[in-house]
Amino acid sequence: MAQGILVFVECRDGEPLRASLEALGAGRVVCDALGEPLTALVLGPGATAAGAKAAGADKVLADENAALAKLDSSAYAKAIAAAAKHVDARGVFLATNVHGRDLAARTAARLEAGQISDCVAIAVEGKEIHATRPVYAGKAFQKVRATGEPFVLTPRMNQFKPPEGSAPAVEAFDAGVSDADVRAPVLSFEKKESDRPELTEASIIVSGGRGMKGPENFHLVEELAAAFGAAVGASRAVVDAGWRPHSEQVGQTGKTVSPNLYVACGISGAIQHLAGMSSSKVIVAINKDKEAPIFKVADYGIVGDALEVMPALTEAVRNHRAAMS
Ligand code: FAD
Repeated sequence: MAQGILVFVECRDGEPLRASLEALGAGRVVCDALGEPLTALVLGPGATAAGAKAAGADKVLADENAALAKLDSSAYAKAIAAAAKHVDARGVFLATNVHGRDLAARTAARLEAGQISDCVAIAVEGKEIHATRPVYAGKAFQKVRATGEPFVLTPRMNQFKPPEGSAPAVEAFDAGVSDADVRAPVLSFEKKESDRPELTEASIIVSGGRGMKGPENFHLVEELAAAFGAAVGASRAVVDAGWRPHSEQVGQTGKTVSPNLYVACGISGAIQHLAGMSSSKVIVAINKDKEAPIFKVADYGIVGDALEVMPALTEAVRNHRAAMS
């Protein structure tokens, strides 16, 4: 009978990605509840060393095959499906990042499995696995039950903690992938030089909207972000206006984020913006209109002119952090 969860752990330069470790944390929730094993899968040369960093897994399968040196959706999906069969996993979890989404669909197709995407919570009831996921751009939550085995699941970022634990035992694994399976490998990753955390991985985000009045005032967003050690986000209105790059856009047609703290400055809270950030743990809104829809989702609201409030807030954050250090 199928048992346990297999988690594909994506690595970059020999380090597991945070999003994959969170997927491992989601797997830990299920495995602890069921008393079943949690297995991590790491692919490509260096998999053994990188796999040892997947703390909290009970076991790591490491396939050092040179054909897996470059991330390739076809070859990787084949390897993940082979590993799932090898351990007879009841579920396969992957990060909800750009590659995880792609690989999840391909792996589900290979395993003829059902897929549950973008989960914000997982509960085990008896032997049944129930997942909660946002629908209608975050306006409602849907509860989904995994009926078949295996099933494929992607947990939303910043909803699950990476598990704690000692270095797991790493076992050599051969998924049977060859160069012929490689169809469109990722040739290189170019890291954008920035002192700030990546938007989708940041635990704090400060976002600015049209209420900032113009690109010349975005230094206030950047300064508040710097004081927090946060990433900078933006609404589509300011991206469309050319005030900020598209890479900073949060929302339905931008990035989906779930930080611990989201500070929305001069953002009205249109449904398309909320779609990308409403699952943030704590939302703070600064808006001069007390009727602005953003206040309906905000945990804390400041009714006021962002251009006046933000310098004072930045100063307060700086002072607080200085006092804490
Ligand atoms: P506005 O709606 O103009 O709001 C500005 C806010 O600033 C107002 O609430 C105002 O009260 C406040 N304000 C003004 N001056 C000040 C001040 N001095 N201090 C404090 N507050 C002030 N939007 C996204 O953000 N992301 C998306 O991914 C996205 N995708 C979309 C997809 C589609 C198909 C469509 C149709 C729309 C999409 N939109 C998206 C656009 C969305 O509908 C809104 O138009 C947009 O989010 C509005 O941006 P905003 O809140 O910055 O601007």
